[in-house]
Amino acid sequence: MGTAALPSVADDDGHMAVALDEARAAPGHADVPVGAVAVRAGAIVGRGHNRREVDGDPTAHAEIVALREAARVLGRWRLDDCALYVTLEPCAMCAGAIVLARIPLVVFAAPDEKAGAVRSVIELFDEPRFNHHPRWRLGARRTEAETLLAEFFADRRADARGPAPAG
Ligand SMILES: [Zn+2]
Repeated sequence: MGTAALPSVADDDGHMAVALDEARAAPGHADVPVGAVAVRAGAIVGRGHNRREVDGDPTAHAEIVALREAARVLGRWRLDDCALYVTLEPCAMCAGAIVLARIPLVVFAAPDEKAGAVRSVIELFDEPRFNHHPRWRLGARRTEAETLLAEFFADRRADARGPAPAG
């Protein structure tokens, strides 16, 4: 472990496309569309999407689902040779799990100005008092990720207003 090459910027669009495919599965069970994939040596070893509503689980974020699958597949908690791709900036819980898993690289498509813990609300990966500092980059397929989220919330607001009056 620890020797597999990490993805380069040129790999980001391809891996993020898979994370976006995961995200698109979440609205089918009324969950906010966020998806994630864990990549080791160019291969996907874990993938998941937000399942908070369908599982009734506050920790069932896309990143946690993907990290758990990667750990199960690889048979270890230390994922120091895996990159994590996620369609939205990780929250504090997920950023914490990423640090604990020793993930060396995180790529996220869109920033989350309200809850992001990488660069928006706090900068957890750059906290000098932690002993592990994942590298990160932002922006792969950003427009697709933001459109997916905007459409989900627009649909939900339309549903909340109820059906349009007949005639
Ligand atoms: Zn999260």
